[in-house]
Amino acid sequence: MINIIDIHNNLNLNPKDKEDLLNLANRHDIQELHITLNPETQLQAIIAIHSTKLGPAFGGCRCISYKSIHEAFFDAIRLAQGMSYKAAIMGLPYGGGKAVLIKPSFITDRVAYFKSFVNIIEKLGGQYITAVDVGTTVKDMDIIATQTKYVSSTSSSKGGRGDPALYTARGVLKGMQAAIYHMFQQTDFSKMRVAIQGVGSVGYCLAKQLVKRGAEIYICDVNQDIIKKCVREFKCKVLSSKEIYTAEYDIYAPCALGGTINERTIRQLRCSIIAGSANNQLLENRFANLLHDKGILYAPDYIINSGGLVNLVSDNDNVILEKINYIYDLLQDVFKKSKLLNVSPAIIADKTAKQIISSDTHSEAV
Ligand code: NAD
Repeated sequence: MINIIDIHNNLNLNPKDKEDLLNLANRHDIQELHITLNPETQLQAIIAIHSTKLGPAFGGCRCISYKSIHEAFFDAIRLAQGMSYKAAIMGLPYGGGKAVLIKPSFITDRVAYFKSFVNIIEKLGGQYITAVDVGTTVKDMDIIATQTKYVSSTSSSKGGRGDPALYTARGVLKGMQAAIYHMFQQTDFSKMRVAIQGVGSVGYCLAKQLVKRGAEIYICDVNQDIIKKCVREFKCKVLSSKEIYTAEYDIYAPCALGGTINERTIRQLRCSIIAGSANNQLLENRFANLLHDKGILYAPDYIINSGGLVNLVSDNDNVILEKINYIYDLLQDVFKKSKLLNVSPAIIADKTAKQIISSDTHSEAV
């Protein structure tokens, strides 16, 4: 049974909302939910801890706008669960958590804002370790690091690991390779057309590596400046927000926000493979089966995007390289088992991660 720990007791959730929230958290096996608000800095922060069974809960700090507080809770809860599964299946001695900061329309003082977030991290005493995610930067982590040691992805000039995006992209590339091999029995990117949705930190690094390997690149982003930069740098085609789902290509790489794989988009997609960095790509778990039935090979998000976590929790380059290469082997095993049992790779991965967490043993075998 989880508890909602409202640090300042001022969330004003009515009993029905609170019950719904508890049900949602319980359905995702969430261990703890922490909430803190600071009217002075406009901070509204949620920390969801999914599990600390294998170690402290590690997970990024996301700062984006949400339509409602429920949407923010939903995001935090699903992201925290994904982080637990990611650490467990990759054999890392960490649990999973996530911080969601509901972005105000304007952050007047970014230093004060992130400093006011530190209270809650410190109160957790190391149970949760934060890092960059969508909407936060290495500089924000440096601000947090002035007040607590439970933070990673701080600037390399300050002894930190910096932005993990490059390592995440390297892992995605390995995962894509595993998927291409499983689907087409070859690993040659030069025959592949890859559509990248979101060419931000990870998507951009991925595009660069794919272009280097001869792949044909299609990009889509809501930020026109980023599109212009990519068009200048790569020979790439630009797809609109609608075309990204309907165009003809081989691999769909979701590298923006989650939930893009749903009933409507599955009907539209014409690709053979989905392999990208975004967390929570499936709007709901049941969509994994729809993809499987349609013959689209899905690389489970928390495996293929684990390169960033691997980089943040180790400072040995050989270990990092080994683990990133392991993404290829792990996905090969997941895909093989999926074929053998005729179930989605997402189901195989979830089952494996849950088993590792509940048995409390680190295993790298699927
Ligand atoms: P980012 O914010 O740097 O980039 C996201 C990009 O997506 C931006 O360019 C943004 O303009 C674009 N975008 C937003 N909404 C879009 C939409 N509807 N259609 C098209 N483009 C859209 O984020 P990032 O760090 O590159 O992370 C991307 C995804 O990968 C996120 O889901 C993140 O949680 C996940 N992830 C990132 C890392 C990492 O190392 N950064 C690690 C694991 C998972």
